[in-house]
Amino acid sequence: MNTKLKARSILKLLNKAYGRPKPFRRSEPTDELVRTVLSQNTNDRNSLAAFAVLKKNFQDWDALLKTNTHQIARLIKHAGLADIKAKRIRAALKEIKRREGRISLRRLKSLSIENSLGYLRSLNGVGPKTAACVLLFSFGRPVMPVDTHIFRVAKRLGLIDKKIDIEEAQEVLTDFTLRRGRLRRPSPEKTMNLIYEFHLGIIEHGRRTCKAHNLLCGTCVLYDLCRFKDKGHYKRTTR
Ligand code: SF4
Repeated sequence: MNTKLKARSILKLLNKAYGRPKPFRRSEPTDELVRTVLSQNTNDRNSLAAFAVLKKNFQDWDALLKTNTHQIARLIKHAGLADIKAKRIRAALKEIKRREGRISLRRLKSLSIENSLGYLRSLNGVGPKTAACVLLFSFGRPVMPVDTHIFRVAKRLGLIDKKIDIEEAQEVLTDFTLRRGRLRRPSPEKTMNLIYEFHLGIIEHGRRTCKAHNLLCGTCVLYDLCRFKDKGHYKRTTR
């Protein structure tokens, strides 16, 4: 099967299995940055709870900068790795303020995707996934954020080489997803939605079916497209 057809089939099957994600709503860029740092190595429930606590306790991010790291860590303990995350959030926001004169990432609007990624990656504690999340969810730029679920599932499906790193995977998977869209010359909005749906669909698949251990190949909707099938514990019994 060629790449274009494979991309189209995967997206269609994921949407059918898990439902189409809720419509895309852009988030405020610095909020997205903070939320994504909080989401590192924990689940959505814990990271969103920690984000809500920060929003409740600080009128704005300037107020957070006036608070010491230890106090911030206490507030975000739900999210785990609280000391590290508090340090990263504080350092990133402080650096943005130093560069921009205020805590705002609006300037990224006028930069290319490469320069925007470079800007975000140069902030202390901001990795490729966080940078990509800010660009996709806040600016609607076509960049695929790759988390551990997407990295694992994409390797098993043979969409990325086993040896590439997360940064390279972001590029390959963005290109892979957009091939599906080139069928009908999509608008920027449609392009962004393709990335968004693929991102959420693969994460859901990684959480529910193509798990790190005990993967459920026997009930997998992507079985026929997968190179890794049946290497887990469960084989499909009826074909
Ligand atoms: S067939 Fe198995 S390894 Fe392949 S995507 Fe499905 S669950 Fe993952």
